[in-house]
Amino acid sequence: MAEKRWHSVKRQRCEHAGCEVDLEFQVVLPPEYLPEQPARVVGHRCSQGMQCSMFTQPSCTWAGTNPGYDPFTDPE
Ligand code: SF4
Repeated sequence: MAEKRWHSVKRQRCEHAGCEVDLEFQVVLPPEYLPEQPARVVGHRCSQGMQCSMFTQPSCTWAGTNPGYDPFTDPE
């Protein structure tokens, strides 16, 4: 049976949330009887996205409140 998991691919400080956050991808791993199949990425999120979308100011694309800003693409 296929299995879904969330994996952290990048961790950095977010000034909007005031803490370290993780950029996470959800992958579907193939069932045991199809071992040659690659894993598939089916979703992505910020680990603080739910809490962040409750703030009164627009934040970023990962919270769904400001699609024009992605803090994970900024050079550090
Ligand atoms: S959703 Fe965006 S603004 Fe909010 S904590 Fe995550 S990276 Fe920061």
